[in-house]
Amino acid sequence: MFKILKKLARMFSYDIGIDLGTANTLVYIKDRGIVLREPSVVAMKGDKVKAVGEEAKRMEGRTPGSVVAIRPLKQGVIAELDVAEEMLKYFILKACQRRGLRGPRILIAHPSGITDVERRAIEESAQAAGAIAVRLIPEPMAAAMGVGLPVSEPVGSMIVDIGGGTTEVAILSLNGIVYSQSETCGGDTLDETITRHMLAAHNLMVGPRTAEDIKIRVGSAHPLQQEMQMEVKGRDRGTGLPKTVTVRSEEIREALKDKLEIIVNAVRQTLDHCPPELASDLYDSGITVAGGGALLPGIADLLHEQTGLPITIASDPLSAVAEGTGRFLQENDDVFDEE
Ligand code: ADP
Ligand code: MG
Repeated sequence: MFKILKKLARMFSYDIGIDLGTANTLVYIKDRGIVLREPSVVAMKGDKVKAVGEEAKRMEGRTPGSVVAIRPLKQGVIAELDVAEEMLKYFILKACQRRGLRGPRILIAHPSGITDVERRAIEESAQAAGAIAVRLIPEPMAAAMGVGLPVSEPVGSMIVDIGGGTTEVAILSLNGIVYSQSETCGGDTLDETITRHMLAAHNLMVGPRTAEDIKIRVGSAHPLQQEMQMEVKGRDRGTGLPKTVTVRSEEIREALKDKLEIIVNAVRQTLDHCPPELASDLYDSGITVAGGGALLPGIADLLHEQTGLPITIASDPLSAVAEGTGRFLQENDDVFDEE
């Protein structure tokens, strides 16, 4: 009898997975796939929300005086609880418009460094957004599942997720995290480093969006077969006037070197913590890299050079965590059942 009721309840609800990233939030609807992909940005005027997601990101760096663009998850921890809650609510409602008779059941992948208080805050904001049940999954676990690593088997797998605010490195086996490490060094840190470099080397002031653009267009972690260059527009620090300079990929790589070293060290330290039985698995299966930072040219060469292990770049690094929540929902029908 109870089982039938449960089944009925399931028919009128639906399950979604959310990748609550520091740079981007993705929503996955079970049996459908990724339905929403937007920057984790909220534009605020005083304590009023002006815009969320794509629209809010467009305002970043060019907001009129009283409007500020906030990234509530900046460093992988929730810097602004209320704002994070508003953002989560907005995305859930947007992704789930007019679906089902009851609210969704939600599986949320969260940065692994967050506190219990933050964890509860995420659960509460999902409930406030209409969720009838909420479960959480550590982000490296979701990422590993999303890229198809054999996380449920008694072998070791290693994932490196280079996001906007953090880099998460983890070794997984038998559905658990054997060891993980989270560094507050990710894409944002690389952007800030480029901003500082442009100022120091060229006396040029550039905003965060230009810095990210430089990283994406000519950034790299290892010498390229064909080095590149681009023109960068900014403002001269001395005169305050607009100015254009040419930057080369070699120069940007040199500027990023120290920060990439932090990521390499996190990978090495994680390998040092790997139990010997699993370490031998890693010599065969190697390391899989996901997150937007996996798209930085040469990152696989750098990690291979520094660890000696085979490196695989995820086929769609920006979707790995969301895909992983989807795979988890697919494989664990009972995830929302009360313990
Ligand atoms: P998060 O999980 O923290 O939301 P994502 O995995 O969505 O982060 O990755 C976002 C980061 O990836 C940003 O810092 C962005 O600049 C960076 N990124 C996106 N594309 C590229 C690229 N082609 N090369 C280098 N970095 C990239
Ligand atoms: Mg992420």
